Amino acid sequence: MTDAAISIKGLRKTYRGGKGQPEKLALKGIELNVPRGSVFGLLGPNGAGKSTLINILAGLVVKSAGHVSIWGFDQDQNPRQSRAAIGVMPQELNLDPFFTPRGALEVQAGLYGVPKSERRSDEILELVGLSDKAEAYARTLSGGMRRRLLLAKALVHHPKILVLDEPTAGVDIELRQMLWANVRKLNEQGMTIILTTHYLEEAQEMCDEIAIINHGEKVTQDSTANLLGRMDSRTMVIVPDSPVSDLPVAEGVDATLRDDGSLVLQYRSNHTSAEQVLEAVRSADIRIRDVRTEEADLEDVFLALTSSRADDPPADDQDQPRRGIHRVKL
Ligand code: ADP
Ligand code: MG
Repeated sequence: MTDAAISIKGLRKTYRGGKGQPEKLALKGIELNVPRGSVFGLLGPNGAGKSTLINILAGLVVKSAGHVSIWGFDQDQNPRQSRAAIGVMPQELNLDPFFTPRGALEVQAGLYGVPKSERRSDEILELVGLSDKAEAYARTLSGGMRRRLLLAKALVHHPKILVLDEPTAGVDIELRQMLWANVRKLNEQGMTIILTTHYLEEAQEMCDEIAIINHGEKVTQDSTANLLGRMDSRTMVIVPDSPVSDLPVAEGVDATLRDDGSLVLQYRSNHTSAEQVLEAVRSADIRIRDVRTEEADLEDVFLALTSSRADDPPADDQDQPRRGIHRVKL
């Protein structure tokens, strides 16, 4: 498999339990291929194992079993080459407070054996918008600037693959736009990008291909277009002229009321036409003041694929997005 940017086979990770803690099986045998040149999204709820997988790629976490090949180099057989092919911007802000941004980049370049003549610290600082902070101590940088510096560090050795773990979690709009502009630019120059994000809209917009993992297992992997195409669910939202007393009834149509009084009709476009849905609305004597339809988005795909197994919900799962649809029994 030399044409994949990343090839992962049977990847398992068990964290040893600390005092009184049970051990944790974080990855349960993951198979994953990331095509070269893609912007690849790794999605999953909190605790799914995304950071564990990425930290194994980065060499920060030691895998328990399986094979990882980076740009055709086996991580165990060719550790130096496989490490040189990848740059990782970690989720945690782990910076040495006593280095300046330029100093941190020079140290990083040294660690990766980049010769002085090939170092481009100033160019990279310019790219991430830190030129004017080149000589400031890391401890004086804002959270956003530290993230910029982490991105800069990941780029120092000109990696083929750039990995970003939740790069936009909790960052302001300006930084988010800077990050995505850089990701696009680097990808256009040929860099393969792997990113995790909680923002499904971002993944839908940025990624060519997406893998969803849940509870340490891969649930699916497909092109973003195919993933969206798999969903033929449609939602019609109607604002009625007066409060609805009887919900419309029709085969294949799931009618519910939202708290604001609007009527939500869910149906599958393969089985039911919009005309049939409207017919059911008219039959229930509901007069339409306003109507709009919603297509399935990545959030629907994500919920459909990850909400089926509620046996082991991670404790910190609440910040997953949910639709505000109020279910009413018919
Ligand atoms: P994600 O990045 O998808 O939120 P993580 O890879 O951080 O998920 O975590 C996967 C699982 O492994 C979680 O249940 C988490 O609590 C556990 N875990 C992560 N790091 C450690 C660690 N160092 N020691 C023990 N358990 C860990
Ligand atoms: Mg994580």
